[in-house]
Amino acid sequence: MQLSRFPRLRFAHLPTPLERLDRLSEALGGPEIWIKRDDCTGLSTGGNKTRKLEFLMAEAKAEGADMVMTQGATQSNHARQTAAAAAKLGMACHLLLEDRTGSREMDYTANGNVLLDDLHGASREKRPGGLDMNAEMEAVAERFRAAGRRVYTIPGGGSNPTGALGYVNCAHELMGQANDAGLAIDALVHATGSAGTQAGLVVGLKAMNADVALLGIGVRAPKAKQEGNVFALAQATAEKIGLAGLVERADVVANTDYVGEGYGIPAPSTIEAIRMFAELEGILLDPVYSGKGAAGLIDLVRKGEFAKGQRVVFLHTGGSAALFGYRGAFDGPSSAGEAR
Ligand SMILES: *Cc1c(COP(=O)(O)O)cnc(C)c1O
Repeated sequence: MQLSRFPRLRFAHLPTPLERLDRLSEALGGPEIWIKRDDCTGLSTGGNKTRKLEFLMAEAKAEGADMVMTQGATQSNHARQTAAAAAKLGMACHLLLEDRTGSREMDYTANGNVLLDDLHGASREKRPGGLDMNAEMEAVAERFRAAGRRVYTIPGGGSNPTGALGYVNCAHELMGQANDAGLAIDALVHATGSAGTQAGLVVGLKAMNADVALLGIGVRAPKAKQEGNVFALAQATAEKIGLAGLVERADVVANTDYVGEGYGIPAPSTIEAIRMFAELEGILLDPVYSGKGAAGLIDLVRKGEFAKGQRVVFLHTGGSAALFGYRGAFDGPSSAGEAR
């Protein structure tokens, strides 16, 4: 497999750092916890969609598009990174934002990622929750095409086999760093949503026979559905790189116990995880994805799911810009309180 055979533009800051979380590891008293900083990919406050967009935007350019379109939730990090990539490449960007939470708070509807979408010059329109958003997007794309635009549509989260190549590549990057550092990784944990990140990682790790247990922490769908989505995309991604049949159903594991009330609604464990990373490590998580992923990691460590002496890597997928859309979720007291 040579990923260099696929068109790719370079705008991510890579490799992202791999760092040890000394204070969090000590506070939890379990395995050694490391972090892979994909919140530091460089584009408009960073995040995991940037790796996918290197491949997706290259395809858009190759097809002669002058406009990209994508869809996501109101506070979509993917929409924001797409808007930023389009700005950098001199392309127009149109976003369809779905109201999945029903929140009427000004911070949610206008600050955070929404503010950044606007700053990057993207146009946007809203949709109520529960629609088939990819179908909505295709309908709007037809409208633009009829008006003469050459539109390239990107599915929600950039999650198709092209976008997932970004995380096949991340698996290689991570194992290269681990090899260089003499670090044997036992498990890799991250938030999983539209499935592209986990699908790419499953394929990349399996192709290398890395022997790393990969665990996606769900943020929306129930377990069977989430694993099914990841598996289907992983199969298609493996096929794209000439490794059809590589991935088995058992390679795909998601834990969806940390979703709370629903997508985009932080649970108490989400808030606790955000506070712990902020107070112990100076690292910002987000209330929709990485906060839930970290909540899963923290709880599983507390339950003894990972043994002392093991090395667990948390893939930080970004999203901190969304914090400013959720100010009200942090009204309670700090967990560290007066301890310092
Ligand atoms: C999109 C996103 C995820 C989930 O990645 P998928 O590839 O959609 O599964 C995780 N964390 C953050 C911050 C995201 O924006």
